[in-house]
Amino acid sequence: MDIEKIYKEANALLEGHFILSSGNHSNRYLQSAKVLEEPKRAEILASALAKQIRDSGIEIDTICAPALGGVLAGYELARALDVRSIFVERKNGTMQLRRGFEIKKGEKIIICEDIITTGGSAMEASKIIQELGGNIVAFASLANRGFCKRENSNIKSQKECKLPKDIPFFALADFKFEMFSPDECPMCKTGSKAIKPGSRDS
Ligand code: ZN
Repeated sequence: MDIEKIYKEANALLEGHFILSSGNHSNRYLQSAKVLEEPKRAEILASALAKQIRDSGIEIDTICAPALGGVLAGYELARALDVRSIFVERKNGTMQLRRGFEIKKGEKIIICEDIITTGGSAMEASKIIQELGGNIVAFASLANRGFCKRENSNIKSQKECKLPKDIPFFALADFKFEMFSPDECPMCKTGSKAIKPGSRDS
């Protein structure tokens, strides 16, 4: 399956001149919510991710997604694996399990996101799940921005990756972009102005 093609068709993989959330500039940008805009496409991607996870043989009780970005991917993955789907959300700056969702002691849980960049919010989610007695058996995301080492890929973990090395991380594809500091950006040098498509802060 050509994951990059699917992202392009969904206008989820943009080409141009962008400001990434790190502040660096790039000629590519992942607007990952767009790939889930068509439920049929979301189902195809989640099924492929579910197959990787099933083939690994790990046992799963529940998928937990950090809101907001991860919720749709988590729900579709849970459907494909036929397990329970829950989410955690940020309240007053900290990740919390709300809305009556509960976790049993030792429950085997995958933290699922639409995209893993450094894994920061996935780790916040895993911390609260572990505090509540859950057992994190894997991390999963549709797209990997290429900072973390996923199963079935040769790219190495970068120092920015926050995911633990002893828990598997499943994703469909690595989207490793060329990045430039604003001072050294070749596109800026041609007079082009970078834009910030954004999710959180625009
Ligand atoms: Zn630039």
